Amino acid sequence: MKIEIISDIEEMQAFSDGRRRQGQTIALVPTMGFLHAGHSSLMSRARQSGDILVVSIFVNPAQFGPGEDFATYPRNMKNDLSITGEEGVDIVFTPGDKALYPEGYETYVSLTNLPEHLCGTFRPAHFRGVATVVAKLFNIVTPHVAIFGQKDYQQLAVIRRMVRDLNFGIQIIGAPTVRDPDGLAMSSRNNYLTARERPAALSLYRSLMKAAQLVQSGVRDAARVIHAAAELIQSYADTKIDYVSICDPDTLDDVKTIDRPSLMALAVRVGKTRLIDNMILKP
Ligand code: AMP
Repeated sequence: MKIEIISDIEEMQAFSDGRRRQGQTIALVPTMGFLHAGHSSLMSRARQSGDILVVSIFVNPAQFGPGEDFATYPRNMKNDLSITGEEGVDIVFTPGDKALYPEGYETYVSLTNLPEHLCGTFRPAHFRGVATVVAKLFNIVTPHVAIFGQKDYQQLAVIRRMVRDLNFGIQIIGAPTVRDPDGLAMSSRNNYLTARERPAALSLYRSLMKAAQLVQSGVRDAARVIHAAAELIQSYADTKIDYVSICDPDTLDDVKTIDRPSLMALAVRVGKTRLIDNMILKP
């Protein structure tokens, strides 16, 4: 099947309806575009899970707060289409802002607990925006399965919770984080980093590795591991920590003693760029 670009919501719904009636399964990879190898890995995972592979590209205004980078978020549709072409994507769904959020729009999906942790405390309306747009994409594309990256761990947790709570009946698959050879987690926002900032950006991965080493050598005190990680990050110029946290992988509540697999998650500003990363620490 040749790759097709659909911008119209009703056309997308009609396409999915038709395919479902033919008994085909639909896999969806939601993205904000400016695609990289991390996105490609989600697409190849999705390719194994459905007959029809849909990738949505939509920079969702509802998940950006005031003063965040909505206006400057990198966009490159030409390159995105070349990547989706290589990955054998069937449909690229690119709805417009006005189509998804028309005049008078007022319905949002918000979760009670999960957004009260980690990134949610720094970006108060972010997960409401994420849950809302993903719920809308699920209603429009009606996928059987959707793939999300573990790089955005809290986002994946929010989506899994929403799908259970609202009975979407869609299988959610979490895919591992793809990294550059030096360890930096791939992100469209890495595009903002200057050559001078790049070493500081590596401090996120290095601090996760340091934490994993400490836990492997027998350290169980979360505060001690967090302190060592923070110290390492602060040793680089131009870094400002939003949070370094060790928490329960399901509830995201803080963990004091690392006596079971625990999520270490961090957000660090490098210059003007906010980066996140995470890893499961296994005692
Ligand atoms: P974004 O375009 O940044 O909204 O990301 C779209 C999807 O790609 C989300 O499910 C992300 O978690 C996932 N993703 C982003 N970066 C990576 C990466 N480095 N490795 C794996 N998945 C990623």
